[in-house]
Amino acid sequence: MKLHFSESIQQLKTLATREILKLTQGNDIISFAGGLPAEDFFPEKAIQEAFTKVFEQGKNSLQYGITEGHTPLREEICKRMLLKGIQANLDQIQITTGSQQAIDLISKVFINPGDTILIENPTYLAALQVFQGYGANVVEVSSDDDGMDLNDLTQKINHFQPKFIYVTPTFANPTGRVWSSERKQGILQICKEFETILIEDDPYGEIQFNKAADYSSIYSLHSTNDFNPVLYTSTFSKIVAPALRTGWVIGDQRIIQQITKAKQTADIHSSMIDQQALYFLLKDFDLDQHIISICNEYKLRKEKMTHLLHQYEIPAKCIEPQGGMFLWLTMEDSTINSAELLKRAVQNGVAFVPGTVFYTGEAEKNTMRLNFTYTGVEQMEVGIQRLQHVFSSTSNPQY
Ligand code: PMP
Repeated sequence: MKLHFSESIQQLKTLATREILKLTQGNDIISFAGGLPAEDFFPEKAIQEAFTKVFEQGKNSLQYGITEGHTPLREEICKRMLLKGIQANLDQIQITTGSQQAIDLISKVFINPGDTILIENPTYLAALQVFQGYGANVVEVSSDDDGMDLNDLTQKINHFQPKFIYVTPTFANPTGRVWSSERKQGILQICKEFETILIEDDPYGEIQFNKAADYSSIYSLHSTNDFNPVLYTSTFSKIVAPALRTGWVIGDQRIIQQITKAKQTADIHSSMIDQQALYFLLKDFDLDQHIISICNEYKLRKEKMTHLLHQYEIPAKCIEPQGGMFLWLTMEDSTINSAELLKRAVQNGVAFVPGTVFYTGEAEKNTMRLNFTYTGVEQMEVGIQRLQHVFSSTSNPQY
């Protein structure tokens, strides 16, 4: 039988992410590819205790819940957000199945095929795929280490009248970059002036290596009573465990209402068992202390990886990130195509993500993303040694 799939699903390029994640499952492969947290540091016992408490609530804990999300959990998240300067009442927060679903629902609410979405360059691959899946015209705004170029942004807003702008201003995936306060303030002003929605995706904001630095979210910079154009999304994936698939989106009540409507048709609500367990976890477990422990460990791992790259003379430059989970490498030889290099790397038992997948337009092919959080330091050294072997054993500049 001939299968007539929709145009949008046929156009969706899921291959890149799926193939990358498959690489991490090869037994002998040391993978720096996935954006995975360190398993040794999952608060396994506390999560187990939280689930026990859910079942102690009786059979009602297994019932359907409301689409907006488990109310006590939303209250706890609002309290945590307040500490980041993000003010939201219960009508302004929607629980989602990971922040990935927040990106999807926001897109469902705003994008008509042909609408333009502005993004950073490079940016999070799976967000690109969502926008393209809804038929958006995805346009890159020039970006540097301080964030988007605001002149280019203004020109592109004028020219394309985008439905929204999508940014990851704090420890971006893939670059690890943090926007300067000027650019954060600047984009907020521009969005207010041009009445453009800004999606602030913040899964890594709490993975900080310098607690003294200011990592204010763009959402929190809005201090007036008028409309805040920012939709803020974050997740428990990086600070608790990704398997819980729980994230949230905060924003203007009128937008949240539409997102709730979209979620009703998507999955009715996120898992009530997971949401209730997270509520107990937030109430009874010292999550802040846990975040400090993982940040300390990730900082060590990041330092170890940058040291190893130097020690094994990997011919690439990287700006050391002050948080998040990734190193972004630019190979000294600009003729290297890291997508081709990956094939040889996998043959040599090591994996990374070629930088090309994070661009929609012309890609910087001599770039790669390395995750430093998942692999313990001993294995990390073996992996970087293998990477060195890949570089030193090739005479073909295309590889
Ligand atoms: N946004 C960014 C920038 C990410 O890197 C990720 C996960 N890799 C997500 C959103 C989605 O995370 P989750 O659905 O697990 O919350």
